[in-house]
Parts: sequence; C-alpha cells; structure tokens
Amino acid sequence: MLNIILMGPPGAGKGTQAKKIIAKYNIPHISTGDMFREAIKEGTELGKAAATFINAGHLVPDDVTIGLVKERLAKPDCAQGYLLDGFPRTIPQAEALEVLTKQIARPVGIVINFECDRPELIRRISGRRVCVSCGAPYHVDTMRSKVEGVCDLCGGKLIQRKDDNVESLIVRLDHYEHQTKPLLAFYEKSGLLVNVNGLTGYDKLFDEITVLLDEVARR
Ligand code: AMP
Repeated sequence: MLNIILMGPPGAGKGTQAKKIIAKYNIPHISTGDMFREAIKEGTELGKAAATFINAGHLVPDDVTIGLVKERLAKPDCAQGYLLDGFPRTIPQAEALEVLTKQIARPVGIVINFECDRPELIRRISGRRVCVSCGAPYHVDTMRSKVEGVCDLCGGKLIQRKDDNVESLIVRLDHYEHQTKPLLAFYEKSGLLVNVNGLTGYDKLFDEITVLLDEVARR
C-alpha cells in the first residue's frame, strides 16, 4: 500500500510531481484544491461556499475540507494507495486524518515535504498556467507548451488560476507559514517526514522520489 502525502508551499512543485507519481504507481490523486476548483466550475453548493475563500487566498474551513477528504479516502480506488496533495494543511486536519486513516486501515506511509525559497515561489506562481481540462501545469518561461495557450497533453486551453496573483499568493504563503508549516514537526515526530529540494530539476527530483516510494512500497 502506497499512502502518500505531498506537502510544501504553493509553487514548490507538488502538483507537477503528483502527476508523475500517480501515472507511475497507478494510485488516485486526491488534490483538495482540484476538488474545490471542480466544484466551483460545476456551481455546486460546495463550490459556492469555497470560492470566496479560495479566490482571496484563504483556507477553506476545516470541517468542509475534512468532510470532503473523508468521503474520498473511503472509496474503493484508495484501497491500494492514494496520493494526498494539499491536504492536510492545518493541525486539526492532520489530527482528523490520523483518526480517519486508522478507522479505514489505510495509514499514511510517507510525507514528502518540498522545500523552496520565497522569491522562487513568487516567480513560479506568477508565471504559472494550468490546463482547464486536465489540470496539467505550465510556466510562461520555464515550462512552455508547444503551442502558446494550448495544452500539449489534451489540447485544452491554458489559463491563469484566479488565486495565482501576487496579492492572493502573499496571503497563501502566510497561511502556509502559520498553519501548515507546524505540521512538519507533527510528521517528523511520527517518523514519516522526508524533505526534498523543490529547486531540483523535475526529472531528477522524480528519480529521487521514486527511490523513496519504492522503499515504502517494499515494506
Ligand atoms: P491548491 O490547489 O492546493 O493550491 O489549493 C488552492 C486553494 O484551495 C487553497 O489556497 C485553499 O483556499 C483551498 N484549499 C485546498 N486545500 C485545502 C485544505 N487542505 N484546507 C483548506 N483549504 C484548502
């Protein structure tokens, strides 16, 4: 069972590595950010409740987010493993996750934390573009699509996320510092935490991550 959490500030490279990991290990990608964006696109009650928080860079309240993940992790496709990306982000979320994964006998096996300095995060987020259809990430300078504005993978339109502006990013980085960073000590204590350098090139970093994950899978 390969039960993984990816942690790190926005722009540290979690999403890009997540896409590679789920393709190689064939496990579901549970990105709370993607789930909220999907709900907003579909105009559901959840989407309406989450949109104001997200667009301003604030965290969606814990009870809403925990409920969403609880439902998702209990689904049959998570029996052979799962990749949590963007959850947990607060201590109450991490505590709820611990209880929940015990109840369903799907304990977390590794927490990979992506380290990246603030100026680089700002550079990455302000130039980030994502595909509206498949969510593939791009960057206007360092990860361009072959045809401008068009996704290489599915032909979808590339857009800039509403919360990928400097004002929202400052708020998001603040939430990361104060609410999410304390989780590193929480997972260090439980022996699950591994730090990786988010500045490493995509392919080299993926090689490093696969070494870590292959070891967890062998246990
Ligand atoms: P992300 O795509 O992970 O950067 O998430 C985008 C936005 O969704 C965040 O800035 C939050 O507003 C919201 N969000 C995603 N995951 C969580 C979470 N675990 N707790 C609270 N809010 C979240």
